[in-house]
Amino acid sequence: MKELFAIFGNPVAHSKSPLMHNLAFEGLGYDACYTRYLLEKGDKLKETFFSLGLKGVNVTVPHKEAAFNACDVLDPFAQKIGVVNTIVERDGLLYGYNTDAPGFLKAISEFTEIKTVLFLGAGGTAQSTSSILRDEGYEVTLLNRSEGRLEKYSKDGFQTYTFDTFPLDDTASTQFDLVINMTSAGLEDDNLPAPKEILEAVIPQSKACVDVIYGKETPFLKLSKRYNKPTKDGSDMLLYQGIIAFEYFTHHQYIFDKIRLHMQKAFDFN
Ligand code: NDP
Repeated sequence: MKELFAIFGNPVAHSKSPLMHNLAFEGLGYDACYTRYLLEKGDKLKETFFSLGLKGVNVTVPHKEAAFNACDVLDPFAQKIGVVNTIVERDGLLYGYNTDAPGFLKAISEFTEIKTVLFLGAGGTAQSTSSILRDEGYEVTLLNRSEGRLEKYSKDGFQTYTFDTFPLDDTASTQFDLVINMTSAGLEDDNLPAPKEILEAVIPQSKACVDVIYGKETPFLKLSKRYNKPTKDGSDMLLYQGIIAFEYFTHHQYIFDKIRLHMQKAFDFN
């Protein structure tokens, strides 16, 4: 019988996941179909999953914490960070994973000789990615517009700054190998993720700059290019988290590169 998968989110209309997964199902001859579902209330996630007869879902904003709460069994990394973006049903139980973080890790692995990383932003995406980067031996510092979200990071032992406390006049303290825009600044506006004088202190000293926003050149990436820095947007992160989710959906029947061959065609439709 055909298996059914979906993405849950609110909003969800813009998501590329249905196209990515359906291209891979079709290309690999796996009898399944992937759709989108506007989930308004996170506490209805489990009920909705079973009433639709799904085998698995991806979960996007704002339900990744609700997804964590809905699972019966959690993978150790998802358990540690408290955020789930992929759920698979097996024998009536929901198994939860996080594929955003390993997808992101793979996306930045092309930049070599990176030790120190500056995150611009401290939201949900920063939560899982900062944790995996630290596990992999990177030194992560977070710079955020406001203080509230930084609290849990400093409790967790990360160095954190707001725009006001960033040590702008100390060249050694503003040297980071990789600078990453983890905010939504530039997504639907022309804002930089931090004041220009801070960016003009850190970008020139960096080895590369990355944005998690995909499908457009943000003001942050434009500025980084002006300093001739190697850059990349969030497309690979999106692609890789999808491939890793697909591996879970299909119980590791296919290797990463085979799935990639089909799934990356979704990015030709921009
Ligand atoms: P959250 O809403 O959890 O966090 C938003 C963060 O952005 C906060 O740190 C917020 O700061 C900051 N911010 C928002 N607007 C501005 C601004 N104008 N200037 C400075 N800081 C700002 O978002 P997420 O972590 O879920 O998502 C962040 C980005 O990651 C989004 O652009 C999203 O599209 C992208 N993303 C990409 C993925 C991919 O696969 N490529 C996957 C998931 C997300 P404050 O605390 O002060 O409000």
